[in-house]
Amino acid sequence: MKNSFIPAPAVLGMLGGGQLGRYFVMAAHELGYQVWVLDPDTDSPAGRIADRHLCADYDDSAALAELAKGCAAVTTEFENVPAETLAILAESVPVHPSAAAVSVCQDRIAEKTFLKTHGLPHGPFTEITSLEDLRDPHKAPAHLFPGILKAARLGYDGKGQAVVEDRAAAEAAWLELGSVRCILEAKLPLDYEISVVLARGQDGQVRAFPSAENRHRNGILDVSIVPAWGSACLADTACEVAEKLAGCLGYVGTLGVEFFVSRGQLVVNEMAPRPHNSGHYTIDACGTNQFEQQVRALCGLPLGDARAHSAAVMVNLLGDLWFENGQEREPDWQSLLAVPGLSLHLYGKQSPRAGRKMGHFTIIGADSKQVYEHALKARVILGLPDA
Ligand code: ADP
Ligand code: MG
Repeated sequence: MKNSFIPAPAVLGMLGGGQLGRYFVMAAHELGYQVWVLDPDTDSPAGRIADRHLCADYDDSAALAELAKGCAAVTTEFENVPAETLAILAESVPVHPSAAAVSVCQDRIAEKTFLKTHGLPHGPFTEITSLEDLRDPHKAPAHLFPGILKAARLGYDGKGQAVVEDRAAAEAAWLELGSVRCILEAKLPLDYEISVVLARGQDGQVRAFPSAENRHRNGILDVSIVPAWGSACLADTACEVAEKLAGCLGYVGTLGVEFFVSRGQLVVNEMAPRPHNSGHYTIDACGTNQFEQQVRALCGLPLGDARAHSAAVMVNLLGDLWFENGQEREPDWQSLLAVPGLSLHLYGKQSPRAGRKMGHFTIIGADSKQVYEHALKARVILGLPDA
């Protein structure tokens, strides 16, 4: 497909008003575009800075009609926007990524089945729709235990999933998850986790950012290190796999692909049809960031340079940081901002809550080990445990 060029100051539509949408609005504004954000939250990070905030549900037909009429193209920052919404909008306005691509990424069974169909590396899994499935050794074979049982839809940041040692634990977890359609995955021994964020244009051109090594705390991304410390060869292979995957999906926009390295083998964990938290480092360390790439892909502009000019470490700042001994307090930004090479990013969220992503900081420098040392010191300033 050829690029269909949308010149500024056209209006772009964004489904979702979180921090990913907020950075999209900033990138779009820099290139002279206007942005309308659809989000049901009256006070969303992107809605606050958008040219217009349509405060309505993602399936509100009047709001969708307005978006379709007023926007030159529409994209998303939220993977759980109903695929139907994207399909309806696509009848009258260009929508990237497509409803078909998003629907694969928002259902863990469809996602893993897609990987299998296209010969892309993935771990063992099965679909679970009943207790009988869990009791059936053909449907849920012994090699899937110990495993992880995950709701097929709507899970994020480690929510909607449980580690299950055996069949009995899996039955209890299935009921606990609300007896919904689930995926049972074998629990893989993880050497480490990496991700690749890439952008793919309407013309099929792909630019992958350098892969990040990711460390999680309580199921939520804590730190991303770039370049990833593990094998450079595996990092390159991850980029190749992610590029192939994006091509198979016919993907247009910015895509995040999470990988496990398990016993030296690379497997895809999951895909996010939007910019990714592990790609936040691109704001400070790359020629073009992941959000500007999303704007460029949507508007049919050539993709920018995705190379990193520095090593980078990104640390997420969760709402927990705003509390000490149950009392709300402001983190010590004065001391933090004195750390060399550090950029602080706050998303403008009104109320800090435990586990809520409030912001992040990125430290850049010439050498990733040295940058990591600085990041550890910055963590101490904020009272964060070692990563
Ligand atoms: P989420 O949508 O919440 O990010 P993930 O499927 O990425 O869900 O799981 C969250 C984290 O749980 C992963 O980053 C990884 O640390 C761990 N995890 C998930 N699936 C597996 C698995 N099959 N084997 C080992 N660890 C896993
Ligand atoms: Mg994940």
